[in-house]
Amino acid sequence: MPDHFAKNEQHRRLVLKALLWITLVGGLFFFVVNLLRDNWLLATLEIGYAGVSLYMLMIIDRTRNLQLLTTIYLLPFFSIMIVALSRPHTTFAVFAWIQTIPIICYMLLGLRLGLYGSILFVGIGLFTFNQRLPAEQQLVNAVILANLGLASLAVMIFAHIYERSRVLNEKRLIEQATTDALTGLANRMKLSEVFERERAHALRNDTALSLVFVDIDHFKQINDRFGHEVGDRALAHFATVLTQRLRITDLFCRMGGEEFAVLLPGTPPGRAREIAESLRQRLADKPLEVAGSAVPMTLSAGVASLGSDGQSLDELMRAADRRTYAAKRAGRNQVVADEDEASAIDAVPG
Ligand code: GH3
Ligand code: MG
Ligand code: MG
Repeated sequence: MPDHFAKNEQHRRLVLKALLWITLVGGLFFFVVNLLRDNWLLATLEIGYAGVSLYMLMIIDRTRNLQLLTTIYLLPFFSIMIVALSRPHTTFAVFAWIQTIPIICYMLLGLRLGLYGSILFVGIGLFTFNQRLPAEQQLVNAVILANLGLASLAVMIFAHIYERSRVLNEKRLIEQATTDALTGLANRMKLSEVFERERAHALRNDTALSLVFVDIDHFKQINDRFGHEVGDRALAHFATVLTQRLRITDLFCRMGGEEFAVLLPGTPPGRAREIAESLRQRLADKPLEVAGSAVPMTLSAGVASLGSDGQSLDELMRAADRRTYAAKRAGRNQVVADEDEASAIDAVPG
């Protein structure tokens, strides 16, 4: 998985680390406090939890299933808060910890589990708190509970809003980082990511995977004749026209400049050649319109396939690029799909 896709996990690992340090220090502190107050149950729970926190701090960078580890950690953590709140000798201030639950839940478990965890544990916290209030002052109790309940609800809503916009921003950033701004196509980074996934899928299911490298012919002339802006429009036109011919499962990317690649999952070499050929035909049929007149555009393409041309994206790219170059040498506006064809072209002088 490329780095930027692991950011969410990194963020949660950092939050969990901060929480582990807080519970380690807090656990040691309250262990001493509870010892001094002869509260053995809580003292034992606190020192036990400090130990668990220390152990988790040592393994957190190595663990693969962070979500599971976090859930295993949080359940007893919240339970200890409730136990502490329920003991007759602790102060009501323990409720301050209950109010950290929504923030911890949302930051560590995400939106859905964050919501469930917050409602469950804050609810139990309020109920436990209520049990400790003297039964005779009903009105005062109601005011106290309303204050705590509303404050907890406010924290929960803020945590929810914060986490939602954080997730949305993260998604948008990832999308921006993997999209070409001019054409809206995927970029090279996205291709690497999708290729790894599709390669694994093809090997597991014994299916084909092909790659077509596409280079626009004489693109420089469009820039030179009409200017860079029309050149940009030509690139966008090219992307739109070719996208219409592809399946939703195909990945069309701009590699840079006027060079593109199409990843074709489940497509054997022969079929990939046909697709490349139809792309070439489609572009030839749909010239760019500039000031009312048609400017023809053509492409040269090279095809490569997983297995026969190698196992890595690099190898497939090199083979497809070599064949595109052969297509250029053969006069442009054509597709070269295999090594025999490319060698035959290269053997011709000139
Ligand atoms: P060939 O048929 O051999 O591929 O010739 P070509 O002119 O297409 O190839 P060449 O590599 O000589 O020129 C590519 C041109 O693409 C040069 C560069 O100015 C232009 N180009 C690259 N990126 C962009 C872009 O984002 N916008 C515009 N307008 N032009 C670009
Ligand atoms: Mg070109
Ligand atoms: Mg080029």
